[in-house]
Amino acid sequence: MGAPGSGKGTQAQRLVSQFGIPQISTGDILRKHRKDGTELGKRADAIMAKGLLVDDATMLDIIRDRVAQPDARQGFILDGFPRTQPQAEGLSTLMRELGTPIDSVVLFDVGVEELVRRISGRRTCSLCNKVFNIYSAPPASPATDCVAGSSEHQLFQRKDDEEATVTERLRVYEQNTRPVLSYYSDAGLLRTVSAEGSLEQITQRVLAALKDEAPVSAKPAAARPARAKAVRKPAPKRRKAPAKKKAVARKVVRRKAAKPARKAARPAAAKRRATRKARPAVRKVARKTRRVRRKSKRG
Ligand SMILES: [Zn+2]
Repeated sequence: MGAPGSGKGTQAQRLVSQFGIPQISTGDILRKHRKDGTELGKRADAIMAKGLLVDDATMLDIIRDRVAQPDARQGFILDGFPRTQPQAEGLSTLMRELGTPIDSVVLFDVGVEELVRRISGRRTCSLCNKVFNIYSAPPASPATDCVAGSSEHQLFQRKDDEEATVTERLRVYEQNTRPVLSYYSDAGLLRTVSAEGSLEQITQRVLAALKDEAPVSAKPAAARPARAKAVRKPAPKRRKAPAKKKAVARKVVRRKAAKPARKAARPAAAKRRATRKARPAVRKVARKTRRVRRKSKRG
């Protein structure tokens, strides 16, 4: 599980190649059913023709059908489902029925600011349809991988990826997902992984989170609530904390500055000066990065 832009799809693909188990993306399977005109696809078509979302029972049937295929016998990664608590409950029931209870639910935790940066940096080339990120994966210039005859990609931003839209999408995601996360946290299945850093670092974290995962059924029941409690905390904390923390920090600083106690202020100032002298390069780079970011935002 993870917000749009958390990179869970990318990581799922890395695990697929490492373990040889399929990634089951409900959105993709649904599209395939509809395209192939299967019975489930027709059922979904009929629902969608009425302008409705495909109901949970149909989605669960689609998952049941998919996990029954031979390539999923050793396990599978479910991506994009469940999104609501009733779906999560339905999934648990289905998995129990099939004798393959869920081993772990991995939450990809990324700060809101970083998510906005990742998504609002996305650009698509209108010629070759390749997706780039102006911050983390900019296209080469001149381009050698665009359509024949074009030496530059023609980048545009999807309306969905504009900053204001992204913020709203993330808010809706949070709101819808929170109950699902508590559901899995209460079940002792939730593993929160910090999803900022290099792809490889994140993969290692995911593997570590999955490793200490004895089959849940073999775990003593009494051990579960304690674990759930330990994992439950980090996720919500991260999302909301920064703004508040900053405000508190600023208040403290202001109060300190107003104090007439010069003795106390002096060593701190000296310390600050020393730090400044010791790390000029780092500060310069930080300033430069900020400038570049501002520039690319304008562009
Ligand atoms: Zn292109």
